[in-house]
Amino acid sequence: GLKRSLLAVLLAVTGVAGSAQEAASPRVEALLSRMTVAEKVGQLVQVAGGRQRAPNSLIDDGERARIRQGRVGSYLNVAGAAETREVQRIAVEESRLGVPLLLGADVIHGYRTIFPVPLAMAASWDPAVEAGAARIAAIEASAAGLNWTFAPMIDIARDPRWGRVVEGAGEDPYLGSRMAEAQVRGFQGATLAAPDSILATAKHFAAYGAATGGRDYAGADLSDRALNEIYLPPFHAAARAGAGSFMAAFNTIGGVPAHADHDLLTGTLRDAWHWPGLVVSDWNGVAELRAHGVAGSDADAAALALGAGVDMDMNSGLYAAELERRAQADPAVMEALDRAVRRVLSVKERLGLFDNPYRGDAALEAAAMLTPANRAAARNAAARSIVLLRNDGDLLPIAASARRIAVIGALADDAGSQLGPWRSAGRVEDVRPLLPALRAALPGVAIDYVPGAAPSSEDESGIPAAVSAARRADLVLLVVGETFDMSGEARSRADLGLPGAQQALADALLDTGRPVVVLLMSGRPLAIDRLAARAPAILETWFLGVEAGPAIADVLTGRVSPAGRLPIAFPRSAGALPESYAALPTGRPASADLASDTSRYRDLPVGPVFPFGHGLSYTRFAYGALEIAPAAGGRVTASVTVRNVGARAGDEVVQLYARDPVASVSRAVMELRGFRRITLAPGEMKRVTFTLAPAQFAIWSPGGHWRIEPGEIELMVGASSADIRARGRFAIASAGESDVPA
Ligand code: BGC
Repeated sequence: GLKRSLLAVLLAVTGVAGSAQEAASPRVEALLSRMTVAEKVGQLVQVAGGRQRAPNSLIDDGERARIRQGRVGSYLNVAGAAETREVQRIAVEESRLGVPLLLGADVIHGYRTIFPVPLAMAASWDPAVEAGAARIAAIEASAAGLNWTFAPMIDIARDPRWGRVVEGAGEDPYLGSRMAEAQVRGFQGATLAAPDSILATAKHFAAYGAATGGRDYAGADLSDRALNEIYLPPFHAAARAGAGSFMAAFNTIGGVPAHADHDLLTGTLRDAWHWPGLVVSDWNGVAELRAHGVAGSDADAAALALGAGVDMDMNSGLYAAELERRAQADPAVMEALDRAVRRVLSVKERLGLFDNPYRGDAALEAAAMLTPANRAAARNAAARSIVLLRNDGDLLPIAASARRIAVIGALADDAGSQLGPWRSAGRVEDVRPLLPALRAALPGVAIDYVPGAAPSSEDESGIPAAVSAARRADLVLLVVGETFDMSGEARSRADLGLPGAQQALADALLDTGRPVVVLLMSGRPLAIDRLAARAPAILETWFLGVEAGPAIADVLTGRVSPAGRLPIAFPRSAGALPESYAALPTGRPASADLASDTSRYRDLPVGPVFPFGHGLSYTRFAYGALEIAPAAGGRVTASVTVRNVGARAGDEVVQLYARDPVASVSRAVMELRGFRRITLAPGEMKRVTFTLAPAQFAIWSPGGHWRIEPGEIELMVGASSADIRARGRFAIASAGESDVPA
């Protein structure tokens, strides 16, 4: 009643509300007060539509009845304007209270216009391009009636054996945070209530990427410091950017399943970050609490998840089956139920659904998809995501003297793989593949295509034909790597070498002595030590989406100078994982004298094949000195002048790293603290200035504080984590506290 909401307001105003009842808007409170317990539970129930059932049977009579009774709060995987309108109409017009549904789907890297996979987008080091891609995805998805996406996936991953590395921004919390914010901004637009905005989901909360051994769903066992300094920053960034929902992770952290982790879902997310949104479970995650062995019954699993802070149950059915009875019997569960319903209703209100429950319609849907402008954006994003890993002897761009080119590798003719995992409404026939794009870009050049070998087969019988084609050619383009379904959910791999007979194919082609340019397609870094030791030119092309072919051709022909940079290192061997450039020093510092470097693997060279931040260009850039100057509020500016000293226009990604050499705890040898992608004409010079606040160097300390310690900070600026061009130092004058991670 009134007393209770007054109390809630008071608590909220005094900042101690925390996990106590926060009052929602008058509209939400009024609605809540009219709901039966069954209707309240209904708001927390998300059921799977469309794709999980037979085609054309989205809504059967049983389901209509369920929506009419107010027993469903959300659908996932309903598809298309007609279907989404129909389920929404039933909810709004035929249920007692007319509460609209949240309609969600995995719109991960585009809806119909498929963009590069998220790991590739991160390789652009271009948050504006990332935000633009998410905006287009939102426009298309909302035209098809959706109001919610289960993206961005912002799990930091330092072990690419884990297949879901493809869905995130790689190994680095700073880059990951910038990409997380960009996607939230893009999906949600200027205001969530706009008809072309969709609710973003920061997932998977948390530390899913720290799965032991890179095995999907395996537990994460990590320190509180690693959790807070490495895995949580992108989530905090997404929360601050206004992400409307979070998804709990499947994994345990230190033995506590995320779906039952009150400290995480409530202590950190609500109390420390003051985040007001909606937490959804992962698919069947509430029921998995029984498999994890922390709940002995369905009712206990449901109560445990709700009590920890999981507001909505994605498809396990346990909230629907168990919560009503539990809530009637236990006032604490009833209170948690009200809290969760408030959050669901508040998100619906923020989306404007009480005023206009419908997104999209048939006409909008027909007009919005795969427009020429969307294709152009996808092509630009794809070209910007390509990483030139090696280019000995300037084999690229393709010289005019190359009159006959052999394109080899089954992946060169696998347009479907370009869509990557999580292709949403993308269609294979929308993809503009490599071979025709190359032929169009190189008129007059003879292009022979020979499959040679495929990733999913050990069959080497096609290799001789590939070798003959290579011998006849002026240049060989060898396309190798993974098919789209080798990375993604439940796609962990133990050996990250080239799968199938592809390494044998590569060896045979390199043996011909013809110039070979390797085009890698993959959803993760590959352990291509053996290939890298021989191949003169290597281009990482990931899974680039509908405009893959033209984008790759743009880079091969030099229409675009490549400037993607690795968002995660390429390891020498899966046996070296996990690894990161941002490692702690050991007590036996790395030595230039390899024989006395006692921390290294005895059977591997030191470091990855291609380090974090690495990527070449068709031009060259010279860096001036790093100039550090004091700025307002205890901040400093760090400036460097970069000049294009080559003959072509190109982009450089200027990367700023930092190290705290003496602190109360051991700090990483270097950590990214700034970056800027700039375009320079030949001879052109630009000054790049980073502003740094002491809070960016704060150290997590037990008890939940970010401690700023006085002392020197070393700064390093350069073209990759292993290509530092200038250094400097500054001092943090006084100790302090911050609530914000870098
Ligand atoms: C994945 C989520 C996804 C959900 C719904 C789960 O298996 O872990 O990332 O959003 O399915 O498709």
